[in-house]
Amino acid sequence: MSTILEVKNLKKYFRTPKGLLHAVDDISFKAKQGETLGIVGESGCGKSTLGRAIIRLHEPTSGEVIFDGQDITKLSNKEFDKVRPDMQMIFQDPYSSINPRMSVSEIISEPLIIYKRFNNRQGIENEVARLMDTVGLARRFANSYPHELDGGRRQRIGVARALSLNPKFIVCDEPVSALDVSIQAQILNLMQDLQAERNLTYLFITHDLSVVKHISNNILVMYLGNMVEYASSKDIFKTRLHPYTKALLAAVPIPVLGMKKERKLLKGEITSPIEPKPGCRFASRCEYAKEKCSNEQPELIEALEGHFVACHYVKEINNI
Ligand code: SF4
Repeated sequence: MSTILEVKNLKKYFRTPKGLLHAVDDISFKAKQGETLGIVGESGCGKSTLGRAIIRLHEPTSGEVIFDGQDITKLSNKEFDKVRPDMQMIFQDPYSSINPRMSVSEIISEPLIIYKRFNNRQGIENEVARLMDTVGLARRFANSYPHELDGGRRQRIGVARALSLNPKFIVCDEPVSALDVSIQAQILNLMQDLQAERNLTYLFITHDLSVVKHISNNILVMYLGNMVEYASSKDIFKTRLHPYTKALLAAVPIPVLGMKKERKLLKGEITSPIEPKPGCRFASRCEYAKEKCSNEQPELIEALEGHFVACHYVKEINNI
């Protein structure tokens, strides 16, 4: 499969009264067409900012985002308008991401009207009905308002709207986190079916590792704006190498009655992402930290074939 997205040294900093907040700091990866890349990490690690910077909802501070062969960070707003339909987003909270004063059909048809996809009302109505069928939303809800629907149906509106311009790539920002577990499975299955039918590429942002395991081909782990581990989903769940990923996975509950799991709770203060000091940002919480960790930022290296880790002592810690 071909690469549809390549992100090179992407940075997004925000100016704050206390200094520059390094929300996304030097992230690089490739995503293949038709696959899902999971982005995981704790709240505040920069994963949503990364997704937004890729589709220019936040203008990147520096770096490249090569989508379909062109660096979209260099495009003017007018030029980027031509690319925007190919890059869409599904938001975490469907209720806050859609206009509560618009009916379901108005919400789904809005992008079609803005991008002039049809020149008559009937064409738009037919397309809205087709999109509602595609996402499993009964046509009788076309004139309903978001507050009249449950969370699962509201998220189906978000999916239909994201699909309306026939995109190639979708940033899915915690799309099932606000939903009940049974509804989560329905939406995840829907997203996987749509991916298979349309060869869609997903950037799937979540803090829920059981969800990311279910849906991702590859996983990128972030810690305080940095990329700390990147590998196939199978490799990460079988052989996590970075101390932070180990702690993250150790915290996932086992859904088996009576089965206990040894958990290592992370201790120590979280480093500030505002004007961060040199060194590994995980050092204050890492049980393996040595002097070098506080002075030198670790480079991302290929510790095992196709398995990249940013840790000075990855080989010693894992005996590899
Ligand atoms: Fe821990 Fe040092 Fe590795 Fe950072 S570089 S993860 S502090 S051992």
